[in-house]
Amino acid sequence: MTVVGLGVPTIRRDDDAPAADMPRSGPLVDTFGRVATDLRVSLTDRCNLRCTYCMPAEGLDWLPGDDLLTLDELVRLLTLAVTRLGITSVRFTGGEPLLYRGLEDVVATVAALRPRPEIALTTNGIGLARRARALADAGLNRVNVSLDSLDAAQFAAITRRDRLSDVLDGLSAASEAGLGPVKVNAVLDAVSGLDDAVELLEYCLRYGYQLRIIEQMPLDAGHLWRRDANLSADEIYAALAERFTLTTDPAPRGSAPAQLWQVNGGPATVGIIASVSHAFCAACDRTRLTADGQIRNCLFAAEETDLRALLRDGADDSVLEAAWRGAMWRKAAGHGINDPDFVQPRRPMSAIGG
Ligand code: SAM
Ligand code: SF4
Repeated sequence: MTVVGLGVPTIRRDDDAPAADMPRSGPLVDTFGRVATDLRVSLTDRCNLRCTYCMPAEGLDWLPGDDLLTLDELVRLLTLAVTRLGITSVRFTGGEPLLYRGLEDVVATVAALRPRPEIALTTNGIGLARRARALADAGLNRVNVSLDSLDAAQFAAITRRDRLSDVLDGLSAASEAGLGPVKVNAVLDAVSGLDDAVELLEYCLRYGYQLRIIEQMPLDAGHLWRRDANLSADEIYAALAERFTLTTDPAPRGSAPAQLWQVNGGPATVGIIASVSHAFCAACDRTRLTADGQIRNCLFAAEETDLRALLRDGADDSVLEAAWRGAMWRKAAGHGINDPDFVQPRRPMSAIGG
């Protein structure tokens, strides 16, 4: 059995002094003037699917339990982010966040913070049918469910698990629980993806879900991504435009990664997230916390800032705050995927949190 090692990027121990011109209060800014208000929290690196573009069939070496933030540590960092760093939106992800025991309690804790952030979840949808109501009651606002194909055989080929009906049940439960707008995230297969995209959009229009199609990025654990083997946003747009009337959505895009198109005159929209071919790094408003307590200022960062070590060394909130600010201050201008010297991060998507 081949088990792909998780690989841990260079860890920055943040005892080096922050830059003199870095703001010590106010919003979480970087040297390019971007402000991070959206926190992505990976609750676990574990998953019950094995999507080919994300994880190998055999799974990964999961993060050791002692490395994971405890509930108290997690809550302390979430509180700091909202009350001292200007975070207005918290999205829980993974790995599969529904595998995190106590997810409802963490959601309720964040919902009790002031100013109350918006709370969202990105999930593969397995088990959501049972938990959507409790999550909504705990304070969850919105959900994105990942779904790449409506063909059961194709779904099983992509995820290596025969769970399509669970995902569809999860979607409808989320909608019934008021976790809207319910979004569907799709990463398309290179061969069947354009047909899948048309079917997914028809399905989403029928049920009132918002489809977001994401270009596949070099974040797979096996480092097998090849630019020319994947569908581009332009190809996806062209395939959808053959079947639907697409017009540019007039709403300002802001920091949203998806370019939105109104479908058949609206109000329904479809979004295409061209992370690779038309990068939107200049408008990025994200900061990321991994399940093992590392701050990443970008999905593609080569460096992390170890808040877990600081927490366990007894650091007070001002030290944690300065370390988090320093991590974001050093954010690069862009992800660099299209640079000739681009190096894929060692940590895969499932351990970063998408
Ligand atoms: N397990 C949950 C799920 O699948 O929704 C949450 C974690 S998953 C890493 C978050 C999102 O990242 C999913 O929508 C997934 O499709 C996307 N994703 C994973 N690997 C990707 C890749 N190599 N390129 C683009 N998106 C990817
Ligand atoms: Fe699991 Fe999500 Fe990765 Fe698929 S994309 S293997 S569901 S973490």
